[in-house]
Amino acid sequence: MWNAVRDELREAFRQDDRPWVVAFSGGKDSTAVLQLVYDMVLELGPAARKPVHVVSSDTMVEAPNVAAYVERVLQAIQTDADARGLKLTTHLVRPEINETFWAKLIGLGYPSPTRWFRWCTTNMKIKPSRRLIDGLTAEHGSVILLLGSRRAESSGRRTRMDGRRRNARQLNPHHEIPNAFVLNPIADWSNDEVWTYLYESNPPPWGFRHDEMLNLYRQAVGGECPVVVDLNTPSCGGSRFGCWTCTVVKADKSMNGFIETGDEWMRPLARFRDELKTMREDLSLREEKRRDGSDGPGAFKPHARRQLLEKLLQAERDVGLQLIRDKDIGYIQRLWSAEFDLADSALNLARTFGRIVEGEVPALPLDESEQALLKDLAAQHELNEDLITKILSLEPEFPNLDAWGVKPDLRKRLGEIIESAVRAEGAVE
Ligand code: SF4
Repeated sequence: MWNAVRDELREAFRQDDRPWVVAFSGGKDSTAVLQLVYDMVLELGPAARKPVHVVSSDTMVEAPNVAAYVERVLQAIQTDADARGLKLTTHLVRPEINETFWAKLIGLGYPSPTRWFRWCTTNMKIKPSRRLIDGLTAEHGSVILLLGSRRAESSGRRTRMDGRRRNARQLNPHHEIPNAFVLNPIADWSNDEVWTYLYESNPPPWGFRHDEMLNLYRQAVGGECPVVVDLNTPSCGGSRFGCWTCTVVKADKSMNGFIETGDEWMRPLARFRDELKTMREDLSLREEKRRDGSDGPGAFKPHARRQLLEKLLQAERDVGLQLIRDKDIGYIQRLWSAEFDLADSALNLARTFGRIVEGEVPALPLDESEQALLKDLAAQHELNEDLITKILSLEPEFPNLDAWGVKPDLRKRLGEIIESAVRAEGAVE
């Protein structure tokens, strides 16, 4: 069976010059795909002329033991590939500062994600991976994306995979990424076949044995959280390795598995995650209107956001690991300063936990002379001063307009602000 897949891969690789992009989550399926590709590149030797990219995404709230494992494997792969002179590059993609879990949850007060409001996947996984893939398609015209999806994973997965149009070379055009074609080399493998392949092919050619991954699976009793490139990919979390902050699922089975099998140190993380769920359901902590002005539970109120930051810093102290970077705290402060906070409370709170956030320049609210100037200009041009202030307050949310996916978000936020101003105007009249 392995040989048939190897032959197909070799054939597909030789067909054209388009780079291959292997989506690698560190889980068993994508590890199997990566190993098949790596073996093929080694076997082809100098004939393997086109580049292979290995992309992993780090949401920056991954379960710490899984994140550390993925980072070490990627390093081992890159070191080995360099030593052998292979045209293979590993990439660990991360969200931009305004896309992180903490910027959205604590900075802007988004309720922690649910199945219906799964803002995390788009911001923390899809956008970062898309930036890399779009960059490669812009450079090379087109790419082939290799995924570890298998029909046997679930009936839904089987239906989706069967429903996709494939060309004679078993490639199907990606339904969202222009000029990207998908290849699923282990589409017909069963779970057991993947495990057997990995056991039989241990250690892999890059030398970092699969034992650590096998151990993680043994502890977590779960599946893998794939590199997500579109919203059709099922939610991670649950029994899969996913974010330790995941509130999309009822219980984080993998985290519980880790704790029950000896990783007691993770308990503060599990506690914080449970608190996130409870706080999301407590309507007294939420604004009465949504950001777009419609009725219904909205963002966390300022005092709830402060509470969240405090709980996070406490969890950080309890677990003995940095859970939020200095620059994220600085960014949260910029968002709070723009919205409600004149007292640098995020920075001060961090200080009480021994975190001195330096080198971050939080955007301060307009000073008196700037406010006066804004008033004058708004009057001169017959503009609503409040509206202009709200629009200006978006600036820290969007520090890099060139990043992929940022402009539609900005357009959406501008739309919400303008709509709510129009509605307020209507209410006054
Ligand atoms: S693991 Fe949960 S929180 Fe993380 S991206 Fe997936 S659904 Fe969102």
